[in-house]
Amino acid sequence: MAGPEKTDALVLKTQKWSETSKIAHLYTRKWGRISILAKGALRPKAKFWGHLETFSLIEAMVYRKSSDQLQLLSQCLLRDAFGGLYAEPERAGYGFAAVEFLERHTFEEGNETLFDWTVFNFGLWQKLTGHRLALGFYEYLLVALGHLGYQPAIERCRICGREPGEGRKVMFDREGGGLICRRCAVEGSRYQVLSPGAYQRIKNVVKGSIQWDNGTIPPPAEVGEIIEVTESFYGYHLGGGRLKALEFVRRVAGPNARP
Ligand SMILES: [Zn+2]
Repeated sequence: MAGPEKTDALVLKTQKWSETSKIAHLYTRKWGRISILAKGALRPKAKFWGHLETFSLIEAMVYRKSSDQLQLLSQCLLRDAFGGLYAEPERAGYGFAAVEFLERHTFEEGNETLFDWTVFNFGLWQKLTGHRLALGFYEYLLVALGHLGYQPAIERCRICGREPGEGRKVMFDREGGGLICRRCAVEGSRYQVLSPGAYQRIKNVVKGSIQWDNGTIPPPAEVGEIIEVTESFYGYHLGGGRLKALEFVRRVAGPNARP
């Protein structure tokens, strides 16, 4: 057998495999989502002990086998446990929603941008609460969708290509995955109306031209519009219904979960 190979990885979830071993789903920087067997991980003095928990960023040494097989973890170092995500139920809920998203929509294929984006957000969310946290999650989702190849066409009308007028409300056609102007709108169709502020924010988010960790936050109504566009765009293009962890967030956070 060839020697183990090294990669950074996020721990998505783990399950007990035997009295002493665990199986973990990892989202790795190099190879995307893989499952590994961590022999002896449940022994109190094991080298992996406490490292394989959901959200943890680890440096993993893995014996690679052919695709779709269980891989063997040889060693791992804990880089960051992102313990702040566990400090508030709401944060943990959004963290689990991100984990669920990666479990559903990624497979064994490396995507370094999506990996780095997720690590960055886990770090960021540790400091956020309330509407700022909700916005942080949905902006994560919107950008993550782009990294998977689903980017909304947000700059111009998806049919005629016309740019919307400065400071105007715009209409978003989730089924078409982008903006639609009044001339191209089909009567009887339902479009989502976006205020100029929410539209500008979404445009900046999609383009990546935003200061993620500065404190400015749009008014609650605009945050609500951003959430709605992202949820419907996600639901329409990736289907499979809502992320279940978001139901949990709604239960723990009550009406504050979204503006
Ligand atoms: Zn048009």
